[in-house]
Amino acid sequence: MEQVLALLDFEPSHRSGPQWYGRCPLHESTSRSRPFSVNVSLGSFSCHRCHKHGDVIDLWAAATGLLLHPAAIDLCDALRREVPWIQHGQ
Ligand SMILES: [Zn+2]
Repeated sequence: MEQVLALLDFEPSHRSGPQWYGRCPLHESTSRSRPFSVNVSLGSFSCHRCHKHGDVIDLWAAATGLLLHPAAIDLCDALRREVPWIQHGQ
């Protein structure tokens, strides 16, 4: 998750343990609010402004505009990793 956030140029403005807060990389925001929260140990995120939430693949898919499956492959490519098993649904 941390590597994905780095790829998205996410800079947490506040950290509380594994919970990071900052500007949402998924929607343009000019305010100084930090509606985006991410739990780097659980690998989950949510944004109170654009209401996007999910796991690391959901984040990458939302950021790149790809569907989940190509997003997962694209992300593994970006991180130079083997494509893991993909779990659909939650
Ligand atoms: Zn957002």
